[in-house]
Amino acid sequence: MKINLRRLVPFSVVLALVLACAAEPAGDVQQTADRLVGSILTGPSMGTLRDLADAFGGRLSGSPTYEHAAEWAVTQFRSDGIQNVRMEAFTIPNGWQRGWAQGEMTSPMERPLHVASLGWSPSTPQGGVQGDVVVISDLSPDSIAAQGAQIKDHIVLLDTAKIFAQGYRKALPLLRPVYGLLRDAGALAVLYPDREKDNVLNAHAAGFDARLGLLPIVQAGMEDAQLILRLLHEPKGKVNVKLEVQNTTAGTTQVHNVVAEIRGREHPEEWILIGAHLDSWDFGTGAQDNGTGSAMVLEAARAIASLPQPPRRSIRFALWGGEEEGLLGSLAYTQAHRAELDKCVAVLNTDNGAGHPRGWKVEGRKDLKDAMQPISESLLKGLSGDDLSMDMTYDTDHGPFLLQGIPALDLEVDMSHYMEIHHKSSDTFDKVDPLNFKAGAAIVAVTAWALAQDPQPIAPHLDHAAVGEIIRKAGLEEFLKDLGVWNP
Ligand SMILES: [Zn+2]
Repeated sequence: MKINLRRLVPFSVVLALVLACAAEPAGDVQQTADRLVGSILTGPSMGTLRDLADAFGGRLSGSPTYEHAAEWAVTQFRSDGIQNVRMEAFTIPNGWQRGWAQGEMTSPMERPLHVASLGWSPSTPQGGVQGDVVVISDLSPDSIAAQGAQIKDHIVLLDTAKIFAQGYRKALPLLRPVYGLLRDAGALAVLYPDREKDNVLNAHAAGFDARLGLLPIVQAGMEDAQLILRLLHEPKGKVNVKLEVQNTTAGTTQVHNVVAEIRGREHPEEWILIGAHLDSWDFGTGAQDNGTGSAMVLEAARAIASLPQPPRRSIRFALWGGEEEGLLGSLAYTQAHRAELDKCVAVLNTDNGAGHPRGWKVEGRKDLKDAMQPISESLLKGLSGDDLSMDMTYDTDHGPFLLQGIPALDLEVDMSHYMEIHHKSSDTFDKVDPLNFKAGAAIVAVTAWALAQDPQPIAPHLDHAAVGEIIRKAGLEEFLKDLGVWNP
């Protein structure tokens, strides 16, 4: 049966209703925000996180475990009523999976060493390698050439305290070519001391590119490395070490991002993206780096999909692979979707753990900070999420979008305890505070909704020069040029 509205109610009333819908009064946005918050606070996010962290464990990009987790995420989106879900493939230069590692000092005393393979390190030959230790503290090619004879058939200990004294970002580009020089000089393996006491090991790789290392690189506990250094500094000091690491490696390997979309009801071609990386290191189970971020994306999708109507603009939900190896999944996405990036209104990223929420980092953009202020003060204050930090970083997946001039926001939380678990065996489900985690998820969902509903895009895209200015101010130009992601 057709109802003629104009016969039932006066035209002016219909017009008023239509206009009210178009402008969406503040009260309605608040109501929807309250609904999203309620849905997330009472929702299944802790179970989702537990499924991801405890059932899959570490999720190294390119590993079967990562791919299974990506398939699981597809099922999660679909079971929450989102039909438009895709696995989008990109390739990394090498697949890599950790086997086992063993190290011991054989003289001047016998004792086991706390060791693990650096990510993407090749294996040692079967039976391992054994040699006297030589220390490298100067990365200049001349210095390494001068030490050449001492490097052959030796195990090289990098004196990272001295090497990184000038700053980690500055030294890192210098370090990469050094591995080639050490291999060519006949080094057996490299010992890379960790920065953390109690011989705790932090997982990381030698570079940001998922390429296989040029020779076996073995992380060593800080106290173990310091003992070796002290013994070597004694008159006639000599230390002999035996190392064996076995890993599985593969050539070019496909990794899948998972991308779901709720189509907008008025401007479906314009989109907001909420993203987090699904991959993780493998010492722990990647519960906060970045299980909580991934679960926040899934929760935001579930809560928004359960609303009576979709938002005005489309919202995409992305779970990236390859983040830990250099933001490779999000970078691949910005390349594959280059033609529609001009329709991307904003990117929200979450990858700083599940500490007490604070708000958003606006990545060096004062105009974005000003534009976000009304949303922060009205919708996010009650969630303790109204701070807007000008911090700019290229340390997680908002980065590639920021380089394209897209307004990019990174969830800001209290990180004072984050480094206690970051990339360590202690990054497990039991450390997650449910309320902080859910409040973070609510901030993500409410912000995405507000940006998707706003009649105007939150802020303009920046041109290349303006992005360059932000990068220079943050002191990141050289670092990004070296990564090959920025060309001024
Ligand atoms: Zn992370």
